Amino acid sequence: MGNHYDLVIRNGILVCSDGIKKADVAVAEGKIVAIAEEISGTAKETIDASEKYVFPGVTDGHVHFNEPGRTEWETLASGSRAIAAGGGVAFFDMPLNSSPCTLDAKSFQEKLTIAQKESLVDFGLWGGLTATNLDKLEELAECGVVGFKAFSCHSGIDEFPRMDDYTALKGMEKLAKLGLPLMVHCENAEITQKLTDLALANGQTGVWDYFAARPPIVEIENIARMISFAEETGCKLIIAHISTAKGIELITQARSRGVDVCGETIGHYLIFTDEDVARLGTVAKCSPPIRDAQNLTKMWAKFLNGEIAFISSDHSPCDPKLKDGEFLKVWGGISACQSTLPALLTHAYHDRKVPLALIARLTAENVNETFGIEGKGKIAVGYDGDFALVNLNKEFVLKAEDLYYKHKVSPYVGCTFRGVVTQTILRGTTIFKDGKIVSKPIGKHLRPKI
Ligand SMILES: [Zn+2]
Repeated sequence: MGNHYDLVIRNGILVCSDGIKKADVAVAEGKIVAIAEEISGTAKETIDASEKYVFPGVTDGHVHFNEPGRTEWETLASGSRAIAAGGGVAFFDMPLNSSPCTLDAKSFQEKLTIAQKESLVDFGLWGGLTATNLDKLEELAECGVVGFKAFSCHSGIDEFPRMDDYTALKGMEKLAKLGLPLMVHCENAEITQKLTDLALANGQTGVWDYFAARPPIVEIENIARMISFAEETGCKLIIAHISTAKGIELITQARSRGVDVCGETIGHYLIFTDEDVARLGTVAKCSPPIRDAQNLTKMWAKFLNGEIAFISSDHSPCDPKLKDGEFLKVWGGISACQSTLPALLTHAYHDRKVPLALIARLTAENVNETFGIEGKGKIAVGYDGDFALVNLNKEFVLKAEDLYYKHKVSPYVGCTFRGVVTQTILRGTTIFKDGKIVSKPIGKHLRPKI
Protein backbone atom coordinates (compact mmCIF):
# COMPACT_ATOMS: atom_id res chain seq x y z
CA MET A 1 0.00 0.00 0.00
CA GLY A 2 1.40 3.39 -1.03
CA ASN A 3 0.58 6.69 0.54
CA HIS A 4 -2.73 8.41 0.01
CA TYR A 5 -2.64 12.13 -0.77
CA ASP A 6 -5.22 14.82 -1.35
CA LEU A 7 -3.47 16.07 -4.45
CA VAL A 8 -0.58 15.01 -6.64
CA ILE A 9 0.72 17.25 -9.43
CA ARG A 10 2.59 15.06 -11.86
CA ASN A 11 5.14 15.68 -14.61
CA GLY A 12 5.49 19.43 -14.07
CA ILE A 13 8.67 21.48 -13.96
CA LEU A 14 8.89 22.83 -10.43
CA VAL A 15 10.32 26.31 -9.94
CA CYS A 16 12.10 25.97 -6.62
CA SER A 17 14.26 28.60 -4.91
CA ASP A 18 17.46 26.86 -5.95
CA GLY A 19 16.47 26.19 -9.54
CA ILE A 20 14.04 24.24 -11.67
CA LYS A 21 13.48 20.50 -11.60
CA LYS A 22 11.11 18.05 -13.18
CA ALA A 23 9.30 16.34 -10.33
CA ASP A 24 5.97 15.35 -8.87
CA VAL A 25 4.64 17.11 -5.80
CA ALA A 26 2.10 15.75 -3.30
CA VAL A 27 -0.18 17.69 -0.95
CA ALA A 28 -2.04 16.42 2.12
CA GLU A 29 -4.18 18.56 4.41
CA GLY A 30 -3.11 21.67 2.55
CA LYS A 31 0.65 21.12 2.96
CA ILE A 32 3.34 19.85 0.62
CA VAL A 33 4.30 16.41 1.97
CA ALA A 34 6.44 14.94 -0.80
CA ILE A 35 8.51 16.04 -3.78
CA ALA A 36 10.10 13.30 -5.88
CA GLU A 37 10.87 12.36 -9.44
CA GLU A 38 7.95 9.99 -9.32
CA ILE A 39 5.51 9.82 -6.43
CA SER A 40 3.77 6.51 -5.96
CA GLY A 41 0.53 6.08 -4.08
CA THR A 42 -2.96 7.32 -4.68
CA ALA A 43 -4.58 10.73 -4.54
CA LYS A 44 -8.07 12.18 -4.40
CA GLU A 45 -7.05 14.48 -7.22
CA THR A 46 -4.27 14.18 -9.77
CA ILE A 47 -3.20 17.01 -12.05
CA ASP A 48 -1.12 16.26 -15.10
CA ALA A 49 1.20 19.23 -15.44
CA SER A 50 3.15 17.96 -18.45
CA GLU A 51 4.64 20.92 -20.35
CA LYS A 52 3.74 23.24 -17.47
CA TYR A 53 5.95 25.15 -15.08
CA VAL A 54 4.81 24.97 -11.47
CA PHE A 55 5.57 28.18 -9.57
CA PRO A 56 4.98 28.79 -5.90
CA GLY A 57 1.78 30.88 -5.78
CA VAL A 58 2.43 34.61 -5.82
CA THR A 59 2.16 36.64 -2.62
CA ASP A 60 1.48 40.28 -3.45
CA GLY A 61 2.84 42.29 -0.54
CA HIS A 62 1.26 45.60 -1.53
CA VAL A 63 -2.33 46.13 -2.70
CA HIS A 64 -5.14 48.60 -1.98
CA PHE A 65 -8.50 46.82 -2.09
CA ASN A 66 -10.32 49.72 -0.40
CA GLU A 67 -12.80 47.72 1.67
CA PRO A 68 -14.49 48.76 3.87
CA GLY A 69 -15.52 52.21 2.78
CA ARG A 70 -14.47 52.62 -0.84
CA THR A 71 -15.98 49.49 -2.32
CA GLU A 72 -16.96 51.41 -5.44
CA TRP A 73 -13.20 51.36 -6.27
CA GLU A 74 -12.42 47.69 -5.51
CA THR A 75 -13.48 45.11 -2.96
CA LEU A 76 -11.77 42.28 -1.11
CA ALA A 77 -13.83 39.86 -3.22
CA SER A 78 -12.99 41.36 -6.63
CA GLY A 79 -9.39 42.11 -5.74
CA SER A 80 -8.70 38.64 -4.35
CA ARG A 81 -10.15 37.03 -7.49
CA ALA A 82 -7.81 39.13 -9.62
CA ILE A 83 -4.91 37.94 -7.44
CA ALA A 84 -5.91 34.31 -8.07
CA ALA A 85 -6.25 34.90 -11.82
CA GLY A 86 -2.67 36.19 -11.81
CA GLY A 87 -1.30 33.07 -10.11
CA GLY A 88 -1.58 34.56 -6.63
CA VAL A 89 -2.43 32.82 -3.37
CA ALA A 90 -2.07 35.72 -0.95
CA PHE A 91 -1.96 39.50 -0.67
CA PHE A 92 -1.21 42.05 2.03
CA ASP A 93 -3.78 44.83 2.05
CA MET A 94 -2.65 48.38 2.75
CA PRO A 95 -4.20 50.43 5.59
CA LEU A 96 -5.52 52.88 3.00
CA ASN A 97 -7.63 53.53 0.93
CA SER A 98 -10.18 51.71 2.98
CA SER A 99 -12.39 53.91 5.13
CA PRO A 100 -11.81 53.83 7.99
CA CYS A 101 -8.10 53.51 7.34
CA THR A 102 -6.50 50.73 9.40
CA LEU A 103 -5.12 52.92 12.18
CA ASP A 104 -6.30 51.11 15.32
CA ALA A 105 -7.59 47.74 16.53
CA LYS A 106 -11.21 48.58 15.82
CA SER A 107 -10.64 49.42 12.15
CA PHE A 108 -8.40 46.36 11.83
CA GLN A 109 -11.13 44.08 13.16
CA GLU A 110 -13.66 45.62 10.84
CA LYS A 111 -11.51 44.81 7.78
CA LEU A 112 -10.53 41.38 9.11
CA THR A 113 -14.16 40.31 9.51
CA ILE A 114 -14.95 41.20 5.90
CA ALA A 115 -11.77 39.66 4.51
CA GLN A 116 -12.40 36.36 6.33
CA LYS A 117 -15.78 36.17 4.65
CA GLU A 118 -14.94 37.57 1.22
CA SER A 119 -11.33 36.84 0.32
CA LEU A 120 -10.71 34.02 -2.15
CA VAL A 121 -7.02 33.88 -1.21
CA ASP A 122 -4.99 34.18 1.99
CA PHE A 123 -4.30 37.68 3.24
CA GLY A 124 -2.25 39.75 5.61
CA LEU A 125 -3.30 43.20 6.76
CA TRP A 126 -1.09 46.26 7.09
CA GLY A 127 -1.52 48.82 9.84
CA GLY A 128 -0.84 52.51 9.29
CA LEU A 129 1.60 54.84 11.02
CA THR A 130 0.56 58.48 10.82
CA ALA A 131 1.12 61.65 12.79
CA THR A 132 -2.06 60.89 14.76
CA ASN A 133 -1.81 57.23 15.85
CA LEU A 134 1.58 56.74 17.50
CA ASP A 135 -0.29 55.40 20.55
CA LYS A 136 -2.04 52.65 18.54
CA LEU A 137 0.97 50.71 17.27
CA GLU A 138 0.96 48.16 20.12
CA GLU A 139 -2.72 47.30 19.69
CA LEU A 140 -2.27 46.91 15.94
CA ALA A 141 0.74 44.66 16.53
CA GLU A 142 -1.40 42.50 18.81
CA CYS A 143 -4.03 42.23 16.06
CA GLY A 144 -1.39 40.63 13.83
CA VAL A 145 -0.54 43.30 11.25
CA VAL A 146 2.25 42.30 8.83
CA GLY A 147 3.86 45.71 9.29
CA PHE A 148 3.15 49.43 9.23
CA LYS A 149 2.85 51.70 6.22
CA ALA A 150 3.61 55.40 6.28
CA PHE A 151 3.86 58.27 3.80
CA SER A 152 6.54 60.93 3.89
CA CYS A 153 4.43 63.02 1.50
CA HIS A 154 0.67 63.57 1.25
CA SER A 155 -0.98 60.15 0.93
CA GLY A 156 -3.75 61.27 -1.38
CA ILE A 157 -6.28 60.56 1.37
CA ASP A 158 -6.88 63.17 4.06
CA GLU A 159 -7.88 60.49 6.61
CA PHE A 160 -4.32 59.13 6.40
CA PRO A 161 -2.04 62.00 7.45
CA ARG A 162 1.56 61.95 6.41
CA MET A 163 4.35 60.87 8.78
CA ASP A 164 6.42 63.90 9.81
CA ASP A 165 10.03 63.36 10.85
CA TYR A 166 9.18 63.34 14.58
CA THR A 167 6.65 60.56 14.00
CA ALA A 168 9.15 58.68 11.84
CA LEU A 169 11.76 58.70 14.61
CA LYS A 170 9.37 57.92 17.47
CA GLY A 171 7.43 55.38 15.39
CA MET A 172 10.59 53.54 14.41
CA GLU A 173 11.73 53.44 18.05
CA LYS A 174 8.46 51.72 18.94
CA LEU A 175 8.47 49.35 15.98
CA ALA A 176 12.03 48.28 16.72
CA LYS A 177 10.75 47.10 20.12
CA LEU A 178 7.69 45.44 18.58
CA GLY A 179 9.82 43.67 15.96
CA LEU A 180 7.64 44.78 13.06
CA PRO A 181 8.75 46.51 9.86
CA LEU A 182 7.90 50.00 8.70
CA MET A 183 7.31 50.51 4.99
CA VAL A 184 7.63 54.09 3.80
CA HIS A 185 6.41 55.81 0.68
CA CYS A 186 9.48 57.99 0.22
CA GLU A 187 8.95 61.34 -1.45
CA ASN A 188 10.04 64.61 0.17
CA ALA A 189 6.81 66.37 1.19
CA GLU A 190 8.02 69.97 1.09
CA ILE A 191 9.57 69.76 -2.35
CA THR A 192 6.75 67.80 -4.00
CA GLN A 193 4.16 70.13 -2.49
CA LYS A 194 5.97 73.30 -3.53
CA LEU A 195 6.65 72.06 -7.07
CA THR A 196 3.05 70.89 -7.43
CA ASP A 197 1.66 74.20 -6.16
CA LEU A 198 3.87 76.15 -8.57
CA ALA A 199 2.87 73.93 -11.50
CA LEU A 200 -0.81 74.40 -10.68
CA ALA A 201 -0.38 78.17 -10.30
CA ASN A 202 1.23 78.31 -13.75
CA GLY A 203 -1.37 76.06 -15.36
CA GLN A 204 1.28 73.41 -16.05
CA THR A 205 -0.83 70.29 -15.60
CA GLY A 206 0.32 67.92 -18.34
CA VAL A 207 2.11 64.62 -18.00
CA TRP A 208 5.64 66.10 -18.29
CA ASP A 209 4.71 68.78 -15.75
CA TYR A 210 3.73 66.02 -13.36
CA PHE A 211 7.09 64.30 -13.80
CA ALA A 212 8.85 67.62 -13.22
CA ALA A 213 6.92 68.13 -9.98
CA ARG A 214 8.14 64.79 -8.60
CA PRO A 215 11.78 64.49 -9.74
CA PRO A 216 13.99 61.54 -8.71
CA ILE A 217 15.74 63.58 -6.01
CA VAL A 218 12.56 63.76 -3.90
CA GLU A 219 12.62 59.98 -3.60
CA ILE A 220 16.37 59.66 -3.21
CA GLU A 221 16.60 62.33 -0.49
CA ASN A 222 13.79 60.75 1.48
CA ILE A 223 15.16 57.21 1.25
CA ALA A 224 18.45 58.49 2.69
CA ARG A 225 16.57 60.24 5.52
CA MET A 226 14.53 57.15 6.40
CA ILE A 227 17.65 55.01 6.37
CA SER A 228 19.19 57.40 8.93
CA PHE A 229 16.22 56.88 11.27
CA ALA A 230 16.35 53.09 10.78
CA GLU A 231 20.07 53.03 11.47
CA GLU A 232 19.57 55.03 14.66
CA THR A 233 16.60 53.05 15.99
CA GLY A 234 17.25 49.52 14.71
CA CYS A 235 13.79 49.42 13.13
CA LYS A 236 13.36 47.14 10.14
CA LEU A 237 12.68 49.48 7.21
CA ILE A 238 11.19 48.62 3.85
CA ILE A 239 11.30 51.26 1.12
CA ALA A 240 8.04 51.08 -0.84
CA HIS A 241 7.82 50.95 -4.63
CA ILE A 242 11.31 52.20 -5.42
CA SER A 243 11.34 53.99 -8.76
CA THR A 244 15.00 54.99 -9.03
CA ALA A 245 18.17 52.93 -9.41
CA LYS A 246 19.94 55.45 -7.18
CA GLY A 247 17.42 54.70 -4.41
CA ILE A 248 18.25 51.00 -4.62
CA GLU A 249 21.94 51.84 -4.45
CA LEU A 250 21.39 53.70 -1.15
CA ILE A 251 19.70 50.62 0.29
CA THR A 252 22.49 48.31 -0.82
CA GLN A 253 25.09 50.61 0.76
CA ALA A 254 23.14 50.80 4.02
CA ARG A 255 22.71 47.02 4.14
CA SER A 256 26.43 46.55 3.71
CA ARG A 257 27.00 48.49 6.94
CA GLY A 258 24.39 46.45 8.78
CA VAL A 259 21.21 48.56 8.53
CA ASP A 260 18.03 46.45 8.45
CA VAL A 261 16.58 47.99 5.29
CA CYS A 262 15.33 46.49 2.05
CA GLY A 263 13.41 47.63 -0.99
CA GLU A 264 10.27 46.68 -2.83
CA THR A 265 9.69 47.62 -6.42
CA ILE A 266 6.70 47.30 -8.70
CA GLY A 267 6.34 45.70 -12.12
CA HIS A 268 5.49 48.98 -13.80
CA TYR A 269 8.78 50.63 -12.81
CA LEU A 270 10.59 47.81 -14.60
CA ILE A 271 8.42 47.67 -17.69
CA PHE A 272 7.22 51.15 -18.60
CA THR A 273 9.11 54.40 -19.20
CA ASP A 274 8.00 58.03 -18.98
CA GLU A 275 7.43 57.96 -22.75
CA ASP A 276 5.03 55.03 -22.28
CA VAL A 277 3.14 56.96 -19.62
CA ALA A 278 2.86 59.97 -21.96
CA ARG A 279 1.37 57.61 -24.58
CA LEU A 280 -0.91 55.67 -22.21
CA GLY A 281 -2.26 58.68 -20.32
CA THR A 282 -3.72 58.90 -16.83
CA VAL A 283 -4.27 55.12 -16.56
CA ALA A 284 -0.48 54.93 -16.01
CA LYS A 285 -0.23 57.74 -13.46
CA CYS A 286 1.27 56.72 -10.15
CA SER A 287 3.56 58.20 -7.54
CA PRO A 288 6.45 58.19 -7.52
CA PRO A 289 6.18 58.54 -11.29
CA ILE A 290 7.56 56.07 -13.79
CA ARG A 291 11.05 57.24 -14.86
CA ASP A 292 13.10 57.40 -18.06
CA ALA A 293 14.60 54.59 -20.15
CA GLN A 294 18.09 55.10 -18.76
CA ASN A 295 16.85 54.56 -15.21
CA LEU A 296 14.90 51.49 -16.32
CA THR A 297 18.06 49.85 -17.66
CA LYS A 298 19.82 50.51 -14.36
CA MET A 299 16.83 49.14 -12.41
CA TRP A 300 17.08 45.84 -14.29
CA ALA A 301 20.77 45.60 -13.45
CA LYS A 302 19.89 46.00 -9.76
CA PHE A 303 17.10 43.44 -10.13
CA LEU A 304 19.49 40.88 -11.62
CA ASN A 305 22.04 41.62 -8.95
CA GLY A 306 19.57 40.63 -6.22
CA GLU A 307 19.36 44.16 -4.80
CA ILE A 308 15.55 44.19 -4.73
CA ALA A 309 13.85 42.29 -1.92
CA PHE A 310 10.50 41.62 -3.57
CA ILE A 311 8.14 42.70 -6.34
CA SER A 312 4.55 43.76 -5.67
CA SER A 313 1.79 45.24 -7.78
CA ASP A 314 0.84 48.32 -5.71
CA HIS A 315 -2.63 47.69 -7.13
CA SER A 316 -4.27 51.04 -6.49
CA PRO A 317 -7.55 51.39 -8.37
CA CYS A 318 -10.13 54.13 -8.25
CA ASP A 319 -13.41 55.09 -9.79
CA PRO A 320 -12.49 55.72 -13.48
CA LYS A 321 -14.10 59.17 -13.23
CA LEU A 322 -11.18 60.17 -10.99
CA LYS A 323 -8.79 59.47 -13.87
CA ASP A 324 -10.66 61.77 -16.19
CA GLY A 325 -9.00 65.18 -16.40
CA GLU A 326 -5.66 66.97 -16.45
CA PHE A 327 -2.74 64.65 -15.72
CA LEU A 328 -1.36 66.56 -12.75
CA LYS A 329 -4.75 66.72 -11.06
CA VAL A 330 -6.18 63.21 -11.51
CA TRP A 331 -5.87 60.29 -9.09
CA GLY A 332 -2.50 58.56 -9.06
CA GLY A 333 -2.63 54.77 -8.88
CA ILE A 334 -2.33 51.82 -11.23
CA SER A 335 -4.43 48.65 -11.38
CA ALA A 336 -2.04 45.76 -11.87
CA CYS A 337 -2.39 42.88 -9.38
CA GLN A 338 -3.52 40.38 -12.01
CA SER A 339 -0.51 40.97 -14.24
CA THR A 340 2.66 40.84 -12.13
CA LEU A 341 3.64 37.25 -12.91
CA PRO A 342 2.83 37.30 -16.66
CA ALA A 343 4.59 40.68 -16.97
CA LEU A 344 7.73 39.35 -15.25
CA LEU A 345 7.72 36.13 -17.27
CA THR A 346 7.60 38.25 -20.42
CA HIS A 347 10.01 41.07 -19.55
CA ALA A 348 12.31 39.35 -17.06
CA TYR A 349 12.47 35.73 -18.23
CA HIS A 350 11.84 35.87 -21.98
CA ASP A 351 13.34 39.29 -22.73
CA ARG A 352 16.22 39.39 -20.26
CA LYS A 353 16.91 35.74 -19.37
CA VAL A 354 16.30 36.31 -15.66
CA PRO A 355 16.27 32.87 -14.01
CA LEU A 356 12.80 31.59 -13.16
CA ALA A 357 13.96 30.78 -9.63
CA LEU A 358 14.76 34.47 -9.05
CA ILE A 359 11.30 35.46 -10.29
CA ALA A 360 9.77 32.93 -7.89
CA ARG A 361 11.80 34.25 -4.97
CA LEU A 362 10.88 37.88 -5.66
CA THR A 363 7.16 37.16 -6.01
CA ALA A 364 6.71 34.55 -3.30
CA GLU A 365 9.48 33.36 -1.02
CA ASN A 366 11.13 36.70 -0.24
CA VAL A 367 7.80 38.38 0.45
CA ASN A 368 6.81 35.84 3.07
CA GLU A 369 10.29 35.73 4.53
CA THR A 370 10.54 39.53 4.81
CA PHE A 371 7.32 39.63 6.83
CA GLY A 372 7.84 36.49 8.90
CA ILE A 373 4.97 34.53 7.38
CA GLU A 374 5.95 30.94 8.01
CA GLY A 375 5.25 27.98 5.76
CA LYS A 376 4.37 29.99 2.67
CA GLY A 377 6.11 31.08 -0.50
CA LYS A 378 8.09 28.14 -1.79
CA ILE A 379 7.77 24.65 -3.14
CA ALA A 380 9.26 22.62 -0.32
CA VAL A 381 8.06 19.92 2.05
CA GLY A 382 6.19 21.41 5.00
CA TYR A 383 5.09 24.52 3.08
CA ASP A 384 1.53 25.29 2.00
CA GLY A 385 0.38 23.56 -1.17
CA ASP A 386 0.29 26.84 -3.10
CA PHE A 387 0.99 26.74 -6.82
CA ALA A 388 0.60 28.65 -10.04
CA LEU A 389 0.67 26.43 -13.12
CA VAL A 390 2.08 28.29 -16.09
CA ASN A 391 2.25 27.66 -19.80
CA LEU A 392 5.53 29.50 -20.23
CA ASN A 393 5.64 29.89 -23.98
CA LYS A 394 2.04 30.68 -24.77
CA GLU A 395 1.34 34.28 -25.73
CA PHE A 396 -1.76 36.30 -25.04
CA VAL A 397 -2.91 39.87 -25.38
CA LEU A 398 -4.46 41.16 -22.15
CA LYS A 399 -8.02 42.28 -22.80
CA ALA A 400 -10.09 44.48 -20.50
CA GLU A 401 -12.73 41.77 -20.17
CA ASP A 402 -10.11 39.33 -18.82
CA LEU A 403 -9.63 41.50 -15.75
CA TYR A 404 -11.33 40.61 -12.49
CA TYR A 405 -11.00 44.18 -11.21
CA LYS A 406 -14.14 46.07 -10.39
CA HIS A 407 -13.12 48.58 -13.06
CA LYS A 408 -11.61 46.89 -16.09
CA VAL A 409 -8.79 49.35 -16.62
CA SER A 410 -5.05 48.88 -16.46
CA PRO A 411 -2.03 50.17 -18.39
CA TYR A 412 -1.37 46.51 -19.17
CA VAL A 413 -4.52 46.17 -21.27
CA GLY A 414 -3.39 45.58 -24.86
CA CYS A 415 0.03 44.29 -23.80
CA THR A 416 1.25 41.01 -25.23
CA PHE A 417 2.43 38.65 -22.52
CA ARG A 418 4.30 35.40 -22.96
CA GLY A 419 3.44 33.10 -20.07
CA VAL A 420 -0.14 32.17 -19.20
CA VAL A 421 -1.32 31.21 -15.71
CA THR A 422 -3.59 28.22 -16.38
CA GLN A 423 -4.34 27.18 -12.81
CA THR A 424 -3.90 28.53 -9.29
CA ILE A 425 -3.94 26.25 -6.27
CA LEU A 426 -4.26 27.48 -2.68
CA ARG A 427 -3.41 24.98 0.09
CA GLY A 428 -4.24 22.11 -2.26
CA THR A 429 -7.52 23.56 -3.55
CA THR A 430 -7.82 24.80 -7.13
CA ILE A 431 -9.22 28.33 -7.00
CA PHE A 432 -8.65 29.42 -10.61
CA LYS A 433 -8.56 27.33 -13.75
CA ASP A 434 -8.56 28.10 -17.49
CA GLY A 435 -9.75 31.67 -17.09
CA LYS A 436 -12.39 30.96 -14.43
CA ILE A 437 -12.64 31.31 -10.68
CA VAL A 438 -13.63 27.85 -9.46
CA SER A 439 -13.79 28.17 -5.69
CA LYS A 440 -15.74 30.03 -3.07
CA PRO A 441 -13.73 32.33 -0.80
CA ILE A 442 -11.35 30.27 1.37
CA GLY A 443 -8.82 32.94 2.36
CA LYS A 444 -7.21 32.77 5.80
CA HIS A 445 -5.61 35.54 7.79
CA LEU A 446 -1.82 35.37 7.80
CA ARG A 447 -0.04 36.62 10.93
CA PRO A 448 3.67 37.24 11.13
CA LYS A 449 5.76 35.33 13.61
CA ILE A 450 7.67 37.85 15.69
ZN1 LIG B 1 0.51 51.66 -2.50
